[in-house]
Amino acid sequence: MPSLRVLLSSQQIHARVLEMAAAIDRDYSEGPVYLIGILKGACIFLADLARAMKTPVRIEFIGIASYGRGKSSSGEVRLTKDLDVSIEGYDVFLVEDIVDSGITLTYLAHLMAQRKPKSVRIATLLDRPGRRQRPVEVHYVGFKIPDAFVVGYGLDYSEDYRNLKDVCVLEE
Ligand code: 5GP
Repeated sequence: MPSLRVLLSSQQIHARVLEMAAAIDRDYSEGPVYLIGILKGACIFLADLARAMKTPVRIEFIGIASYGRGKSSSGEVRLTKDLDVSIEGYDVFLVEDIVDSGITLTYLAHLMAQRKPKSVRIATLLDRPGRRQRPVEVHYVGFKIPDAFVVGYGLDYSEDYRNLKDVCVLEE
């Protein structure tokens, strides 16, 4: 039976999300900025980040499939849902749950750049820099985490555990 070990408590996450929102507000007070959540894992982080920000935001989602039912990446990135609007001329934030190999965000940053936004920045709750295969500039990072598979606060394992309040290590 798999077991769960709390890596980041909901209180730690809440405090850090407030700090990240304040940092973004300092950099982009005018707005509106587009927060683009990468489905599905980033939806809970995006919801909390957006509500903690004072800068006016607009919310969009983009769908990407890179992980199948297992714990390791297929190495392939596939667009499963595109944006519903043009982002031309806007400040854009890609909002991600975790940056691992960097393959997903490298793909998406290129895709967004083709749409002529004013700027593209990346905000991620979690960063696992030890497993990077593609260099990617991440502007706002919540927590750097060690090399262990995590679930909760939006992150899943085969679609389970997304609604855990804490980020937990899933141990076999
Ligand atoms: P990358 O393309 O950077 O390798 O992978 C990013 C995506 O892989 C994340 O959006 C997430 O969906 C998935 N991922 C990477 N590490 C983990 C992890 O520890 N737990 C879960 N649940 N998903 C992960």
